[in-house]
Amino acid sequence: MHQVNVACLVRHAKNNDWLERLQKDVVEKQLLIASSTTEGASGGDIRNSDAAVFAEDSRISIERDASVISYGDYADAIMMTARRDRGSASSDQVLVVFERNDYRLECTQSWDALGMRGTCSKGFRLRARGDKAQIFREPYELIHSQTMMPFANVLWGAVWTGIAAAALQRARAFVRKVGTCATGKLPPGAAHMTRARASFETLRGVLQSSIRALDANEVDPSRLTAIDVQTGFNLLKVESSELALAIVLAALKTCGLAGYRNNGEFSISRYLRDILSSPLMISNERILANAQIAVLLSEPPLGLMD
Ligand SMILES: Cc1cc2nc3c(=O)[nH]c(=O)nc-3n(C[C@H](O)[C@H](O)[C@H](O)COP(=O)(O)OP(=O)(O)OC[C@H]3O[C@@H](n4cnc5c(N)ncnc54)[C@H](O)[C@@H]3O)c2cc1C
Repeated sequence: MHQVNVACLVRHAKNNDWLERLQKDVVEKQLLIASSTTEGASGGDIRNSDAAVFAEDSRISIERDASVISYGDYADAIMMTARRDRGSASSDQVLVVFERNDYRLECTQSWDALGMRGTCSKGFRLRARGDKAQIFREPYELIHSQTMMPFANVLWGAVWTGIAAAALQRARAFVRKVGTCATGKLPPGAAHMTRARASFETLRGVLQSSIRALDANEVDPSRLTAIDVQTGFNLLKVESSELALAIVLAALKTCGLAGYRNNGEFSISRYLRDILSSPLMISNERILANAQIAVLLSEPPLGLMD
């Protein structure tokens, strides 16, 4: 999440001295920024917040039930979504960042998960105080559509592609090893490897085309808010997580028992445990349900290169 937060800071901090100073500190002091969008009641519904900014003169405070903050214990700052004020609707959000000395974290849930253990994603009650200048001037709605969502989905897709690639490498190594043994026969699951390679090429293609769309709109990110572009970036998360999971499962079927083992050179165990988080984090079903109207409104292009 650090990279995504830095992207928000780079693209949306203009005309705000406090945030511009933070930009410099991130580089000079190599600050690590965590992210808090998930909350107790609304879960991963990133376009709605429960916690609200409470403002008194130039000072602000926020209290939230942050059910998951990755590397929260180790971060130098936390960037978070919140309702603009206590009277605002849940979707009237701002983005705000607090530095380590501005907040207190009280652990509410430990991180004993199936995979992604290295992310140290604990739950916290978060209490923060700061200055009004720590709030981004642009509404979160705009930051979300131009930067937070597209960058997060491309970054996550790239990470999941890496996991899929590593699992596929093991599957290939397994088939080669069995094929060069005395019998010379390929293992029974070898066909799964070939199918997984096809899915892997699709995954790379989907991701590469999204990266091209990000690059093409670098100068004028406002074009990223077009309905079909937004739908594409939202569906990228669904598509890349499902393809990556299918590839890792196919690698497991290729390697058979050697892949099922937690140890050994062909173990797929860690890849499988990690990749199982991908359709769940910001549930794919939630994304599909939210994208329904946009898909209805947006005509699929008939031409291949449109
Ligand atoms: C490895 C990893 C790292 C993450 N890092 C971060 C991070 O740094 N920052 C961050 O903000 N988020 C983080 N998340 C959370 C992630 O972004 C999603 O918010 C989270 O997976 C929940 O998604 P969801 O609400 O769409 O789905 P679900 O978890 O399936 O939840 C669906 C709904 O059920 C409700 N619900 C779930 N459990 C209960 C319960 N016990 N009682 C009542 N209601 C409940 C939720 O509130 C939600 O409305 C991380 C997730 C993972 C897997």
